[in-house]
Amino acid sequence: MKTLILPKMIYGYNSINELRCIVEKYDTVLYLIDSFFKNDMLKEKIYIRKKDVTIFIDVTNEPRTSYVDSIIQSLKKNIISPDLIIAIGGGSTLDIGKAVSIILMNGGLCKDYQGWDLVKKKGIYKIGIPTISGTGAEVSRTAVMISEIQKLGINSDYSVFDLIILDPSFLQTVPNEQYFYTAMDCFIHCVESIKGTFINEFSRSYSEKAIELCREVFLNKKISERDAKIMMASYFGGCAIYYSETGICHALSYGLSFILNIHHGIGNCIVFNVLDDFYGDYVNEFRKMAEFNSIKIPKGIMNNVGDNLLDKMVELTLKMEKPLTNAFGGEWSKIMTKQKIKELYKTM
Ligand code: NAD
Ligand code: ZN
Repeated sequence: MKTLILPKMIYGYNSINELRCIVEKYDTVLYLIDSFFKNDMLKEKIYIRKKDVTIFIDVTNEPRTSYVDSIIQSLKKNIISPDLIIAIGGGSTLDIGKAVSIILMNGGLCKDYQGWDLVKKKGIYKIGIPTISGTGAEVSRTAVMISEIQKLGINSDYSVFDLIILDPSFLQTVPNEQYFYTAMDCFIHCVESIKGTFINEFSRSYSEKAIELCREVFLNKKISERDAKIMMASYFGGCAIYYSETGICHALSYGLSFILNIHHGIGNCIVFNVLDDFYGDYVNEFRKMAEFNSIKIPKGIMNNVGDNLLDKMVELTLKMEKPLTNAFGGEWSKIMTKQKIKELYKTM
């Protein structure tokens, strides 16, 4: 049975200041912070005590299971057992925070938990603080990881944060392109949800609101509370996916991340840009939003990719049964044939 579990939430500009009184109740806090903030005054805002531990997370690559394992090893080596984990960053850092919390409590290797409901025990209390919005990772029940053989989430009720702090003031420093790419992850989640066969009123309601917020943000020159709007869109998009699924875009973009190391946000945009046949007017609307914000979606990324790699990407896409079933129903393999997937990749 799929039970909706939402994290507790503190919302508002500068709500990060609330962290101080939360932290005081814990012995040792492990901060996992996106390296972007390494030289930032964030440290002053978040009140790190001498006994707490900070690890700056390198998000050059999307999260690897081996990276999580190395964090666990170093904590063990230094006999550090946090009773609170706070992840501050984008989807990559939030997912690493979820995984570290789970593995510290359950033992073993990160890759052992990729899949559905493989986590046995609730992890260490974890707080997520997004600094860029769109993935919905702040609310989702998955922590997406890349292992040697696959990109797959740790899908579990125990992946859900215990508390999230949604403070839109973090978004001020996000560069324009990255802001757009990550936000479009939300737009695409919602389109895939609405156009999918798993659609239901729960997911539709959240998706419609999130899409409306994306339109407000990306199709208006002057807009108040832009960051707060996109932060709420991301949250709603994450909720929408609880009772639906992603679709064709995600099934294809996982191939781009795993084989070509292209990040999720931009990868989705590259794929969505060629999905006119499936998502029609939404693709036109997406292009309008890109143009309005002076974003050029990369093209020709497959020009130098050989047949060998292309075959691997097709194989990966064919493994994405849930998104493809959502997109086309049980007979999806008659529509998304190897040939069709290859053709789509070649147009990117
Ligand atoms: P990210 O975490 O990879 O970060 C992207 C870039 O933005 C990085 O360079 C980072 O340093 C920078 N950044 C973050 N906050 C910033 C700020 N306030 N100011 C300036 N720069 C900032 O980006 P993302 O798009 O949020 O996350 C992508 C990851 O999330 C992928 O690994 C993807 O697989 C995963 N994901 C997870 C879920 C889920 O439900 N768990 C859903 C979708 C995607
Ligand atoms: Zn996504």
